[in-house]
Amino acid sequence: MTAFWCEQAWLGPDTTVRNDGVLITVAGDYIGSVEAGVAVPPADATRLVGVTLPGIANAHSHAFHRALRGRTHGGVGTFWTWRDHMYRLAGSLDPDRYEELATATFAEMVLAGYTAVGEFHYLHHDVSGRPYGDPNEMGERVVNAAARAGIRLTLLDTCYLFGGVGQPVDGVQHRFSDGTAGEWMDRVDRLAPRVPHGSGPTGRVQLGAAIHSVRAVDPDSIGVVDEWARSHDVVLHAHVSEQLQENDDCLRAYGATPVELLARHVDLERRFTAVHAIHLSATDVGHLTASGTSCCVCPTTERDLADGIGPTAALRYPGALCIGSDSHAVIDPFEETRAIELDERLRSGGRGSHDPSSLLRAATQSGYSSLGWRGGEIAAGNLADFVTVGFDSVRLAGADRDDVAAAVVFGATASDVTDVVVGGEHIVHDGVHRSLDVATALDDSIRAVWAAVER
Ligand SMILES: [Zn+2]
Repeated sequence: MTAFWCEQAWLGPDTTVRNDGVLITVAGDYIGSVEAGVAVPPADATRLVGVTLPGIANAHSHAFHRALRGRTHGGVGTFWTWRDHMYRLAGSLDPDRYEELATATFAEMVLAGYTAVGEFHYLHHDVSGRPYGDPNEMGERVVNAAARAGIRLTLLDTCYLFGGVGQPVDGVQHRFSDGTAGEWMDRVDRLAPRVPHGSGPTGRVQLGAAIHSVRAVDPDSIGVVDEWARSHDVVLHAHVSEQLQENDDCLRAYGATPVELLARHVDLERRFTAVHAIHLSATDVGHLTASGTSCCVCPTTERDLADGIGPTAALRYPGALCIGSDSHAVIDPFEETRAIELDERLRSGGRGSHDPSSLLRAATQSGYSSLGWRGGEIAAGNLADFVTVGFDSVRLAGADRDDVAAAVVFGATASDVTDVVVGGEHIVHDGVHRSLDVATALDDSIRAVWAAVER
């Protein structure tokens, strides 16, 4: 039995008292017991000084986009010109370079306090667009990368069939497309026996499914993917209304918004996560609210790509909101979390739509739920994933320790994370990853992929 003693812990929005001296015991991957008010740390317990939070979920990631940071952000243009840069990068990645880059990116996430990630994985085939000998080679490399980095993974295998509404795939998009939903299903059926899925998965990885968007998957195929996800009892994610052009194209082709189209072909429910959900009509919000659909907001990416600000104040039903770092322009869960409220202030001219505890719940438990895990809460029976934030930096010195949710949500940065535990394993200790020199791994892997692009 492993034990951790936390100087202070945040035990969820329902606890109003300050919890000092919290002893967490771990059995296997799960929390065995939680006891507050333990003033003296037991000799065999690992001490975590600062405030310990539940594990934080990065519910939307494309790991390889990390190589674009600082290389595309100063330019002009739109989401679509940014996408051209991303395609140049995607066209050059082979399995080895992909795994190295994903490992380093996932390790950066762990250092920042993310304990779980949903990898929205669509780079399936080789540079000519043909399947690898093992058609799931790239997905397997993502699984390897997460294990090396020590992060919990939901591999969201993504169906991508069209270059735009009614347009065939072109160029690098052949790497993303399986051709038909049936062929997507055949490939994922070969992956399913190798990656745990369904109720109560064991281990640190599970399989999920994704529909790239209504741009890239036609309505009949959307239904096929949803049916596969339901029959395998896995979560289903989709990019939804990130850009106005997506809404315009969808309305022109189908006479429906993306949410309306999905509502016709997908069982919208908590198992489904709408990523971005920015340009929503009142009817769209009604569909999402009525079904309790998860909505993953990615504010730092949405700012970078000039996507817009979603109606988060209208999406405050329980468990609705979670966070993702998407293109990894920034990897900092605190910046992502406070942006839900701060961007809403800019949009509405009012403060306080989202209180600190509900924001922290979005980053933790709601994100875990979106990825199909029972975690994001420091309570017996939940996954033993947690994150300690130190209070000795210039950013948090003097913080109100009686209101740690407000202190960390509005004051902390990724650099304030001192310790990260995933499945009871101490992955980050005093700000240092247990097995990787993360900055060097990022530097080496990013230089390697750009050298390949230039060749
Ligand atoms: Zn995305």
